[in-house]
Amino acid sequence: MQYRTVSFYDEFKCIGGACEDSCCDNWEIDLDDGSLKLYMSQKGEFGKRLKKCTRVKDKQFILNGVRCPFHNDDDLCDIFIEMGEEALCQTCTNFPRHIEEFDDLKEVSLTMSCPEASRIMLSKKDKMTFICKEGNDRDYGLKEIKAVSRFAFWKRGHENKLDKPLFDKLYEARELIYDMLQDRTKPVPLRAVRILSFAKELQDCVDEVGERQYGSSKAYSEIDDIIERYRGKASYDGKDKCIDRDDDKSIDDNGDKCIDNNKEDDYATDSEYHNTRVDNFVSQILNMYDGLENIKPEWKDILSLGKQHLKSESCRRDVTEFLENYKDKEYEFEHILVYYIFNYFLGASYDHDILTKVKFAVISYLVILQLDVARWISQNKNFLYDDQVTVAHAYSKEVEHSYNNYESLQLVLSAHPILTVDNIINRLKGGLL
Ligand code: SF4
Repeated sequence: MQYRTVSFYDEFKCIGGACEDSCCDNWEIDLDDGSLKLYMSQKGEFGKRLKKCTRVKDKQFILNGVRCPFHNDDDLCDIFIEMGEEALCQTCTNFPRHIEEFDDLKEVSLTMSCPEASRIMLSKKDKMTFICKEGNDRDYGLKEIKAVSRFAFWKRGHENKLDKPLFDKLYEARELIYDMLQDRTKPVPLRAVRILSFAKELQDCVDEVGERQYGSSKAYSEIDDIIERYRGKASYDGKDKCIDRDDDKSIDDNGDKCIDNNKEDDYATDSEYHNTRVDNFVSQILNMYDGLENIKPEWKDILSLGKQHLKSESCRRDVTEFLENYKDKEYEFEHILVYYIFNYFLGASYDHDILTKVKFAVISYLVILQLDVARWISQNKNFLYDDQVTVAHAYSKEVEHSYNNYESLQLVLSAHPILTVDNIINRLKGGLL
């Protein structure tokens, strides 16, 4: 089996009792069959406790309020203490690793819903890179993963069959997306515009191919042309033309300069009307997040601060000022986008929904940015690396740590009428560039 991981993967080590947000609380722990059998066969006092605290039918522990019943007062795990590390179930062993499987390849990342994993990722100034090596689950700190395990997001299986020809094309497309996202000559919002327009074209192509021809490499040949076209420097601005901000000229699909831009396109106007429109758009997105099941209590406060800030008259100016002040740490947003693309983009080779994966990355960036700005304002324009860790981690825990929240959000992203590519581009260009 091949394993692909982010290059800093081996730097992660659980900090256990020193962690400010134990992963043992606020969620249902799904038990794999092997662990359930082991726990139910335990003898003695601890065996009795295991039986009492397990809902066998649901293959879950019965939470003590919001707390795992084996998470003790010293913030340590009683199963680990009584039975040893090997006895931890698959869910607990694997966390905070997110796993996607594609035939003989496993892609394993460290999810931001662990604050320590967020800290490591956000501390890196260099571009995020990935390593692929032959190995086994143990080499990557994983308990054996069976394809049927799909109760929690990081070991979710896929209902659909892998479309290998599409996977091959999307793999190449993802490499290009990394290049676009890590093009540090452009501001991050423009990089996000580029990947959105690229994803839209890929999606149109796959939709055109249609279900009957899924799995045929010939049918996907047009994807090669799209990739080649985007390999040039042009980017779509949502109006059938492309813009390269380096020299403020518009470029057509062939990469030829066509119109002087001077940042005066419709999306970059600064009118009051336009500002209200883009801020309403972000408000509506935050309202969608408000509708999700609350996993981490602090998330509610972070979200409501973000919503509150959008009501202030200066909210648009604040975003601009924050971005200006935070320029040196723009790489943090770049990492967040690359993280979401690495974790989810290739999943489209199962469900053929490329656009939703990219929307998820971009909307996550927009939401985290808005929450950052609100926090920055509430702290008298102070915002440190620890604040970014807090916000990014809380966001990830809310949307990725709960299977229901993750699925609901994917549904909203794919179907909500306001979340069109043009509307999102409008926000990115009108509000942030
Ligand atoms: S959230 Fe991360 S660092 Fe904290 S206890 Fe869990 S795995 Fe360890």
